[in-house]
Amino acid sequence: MKPFGYLRADRTDQALAAYAAHPGAQYVAGGTNLVDLMKLGVATPPFLVDISRLPLDGVDETADGGLRIGATVRNSDLAAHPLVRTRYTALSQALLAGASAQLRNAATTGGNLLQRTRCPYFQDTSKPCNKRAPGTGCPAREGVHRDLAVLGHSARCVATHPSDMAVALAALDAQVHLLGLDGERTVPLTEFHRLPGDTPEHDTVVRPGELVTAVTLPPPAGAHSAYRKARDRASYAFALVSVAAALTVEEGAVRHAALAFGGVAHAPWRARAAEEVLRGEPATEETYARAVDAELAAADPLRDNAFKVPLARGLAVRVLTDLAFRP
Ligand SMILES: Cc1cc2nc3c(=O)[nH]c(=O)nc-3n(C[C@H](O)[C@H](O)[C@H](O)COP(=O)(O)OP(=O)(O)OC[C@H]3O[C@@H](n4cnc5c(N)ncnc54)[C@H](O)[C@@H]3O)c2cc1C
Ligand code: SF4
Repeated sequence: MKPFGYLRADRTDQALAAYAAHPGAQYVAGGTNLVDLMKLGVATPPFLVDISRLPLDGVDETADGGLRIGATVRNSDLAAHPLVRTRYTALSQALLAGASAQLRNAATTGGNLLQRTRCPYFQDTSKPCNKRAPGTGCPAREGVHRDLAVLGHSARCVATHPSDMAVALAALDAQVHLLGLDGERTVPLTEFHRLPGDTPEHDTVVRPGELVTAVTLPPPAGAHSAYRKARDRASYAFALVSVAAALTVEEGAVRHAALAFGGVAHAPWRARAAEEVLRGEPATEETYARAVDAELAAADPLRDNAFKVPLARGLAVRVLTDLAFRP
């Protein structure tokens, strides 16, 4: 274990100042990902700024009927919140599909968004990896990549983002609120995580020292939503493929549709091409399949993960069909 300094911050300004005063510092919230990476030697911060006690733990209805979720709200509290369960069902279902009850009691909203990839080479410091050590190569491309990306990957990195929660937030049009020494800014969830391109070391658009303070959701617009996850085991397993969808059907036609995939790319994958096909069309299985095929036409599977494409297709058609039958 490498020694590191530690400060528990009570206020956001104190957290930002402590980060700025210690080069290489990292924030720690629930610690369920960062502490594991420190034990593996993947993360070696000389200083930790503990943000778990910041007053960012509220879930509050906004003036427009949406929801504001503080960055330190625990995953289990968010999943159980009555407004999340009733109005944003996909979010509650996605949270409950992740990790275990014990982990969800510690994991936070901000930490969940910023958790690192589960690519086995990233977690093994004896192996090259462009994300962990830029310029060393991507052994996953020709090596073990069954669980990795089929969409939006690059020659430099084929990793996937592991969060279930982020996929639901992508379909629900969430916004992420950031605070830095230069002030506040807001980024749509769909632009928060990056595709790898030539710089896979950057998972997100968060700037050094910025804190995630909250996530906001617009009013649910009457649509039902759902999240479904395909995985190797029923618990403690990350998504092979997951689907979050919100759907409104009126007089047999699709009035509103939002669709996002998880487990297929370096970022939650909002399926805009599929949504375009769905809008105004008859709410039938044939329409759903046509829409999902339009999205997945861009898939570029690796040697061992082509199974993800039909899996994503089947899962998405099933979720949309089920949603259309909700009263
Ligand atoms: C065995 C196991 C199984 C799991 N299974 C799943 C699963 O199926 N699905 C799933 O989605 N997840 C799964 N997880 C991951 C889990 O959801 C994450 O570890 C957790 O959400 C991270 O939250 P945290 O608060 O503990 O983050 P931390 O570990 O404290 O932090 C993670 C990262 O976020 C940064 N950070 C944290 N909060 C902020 C903030 N407010 N502002 C800026 N930076 C911040 C930290 O600096 C760090 O880099 C699993 C984890 C384990 C150990
Ligand atoms: S896929 Fe990305 S994280 Fe995995 S080895 Fe390649 S560069 Fe590293």
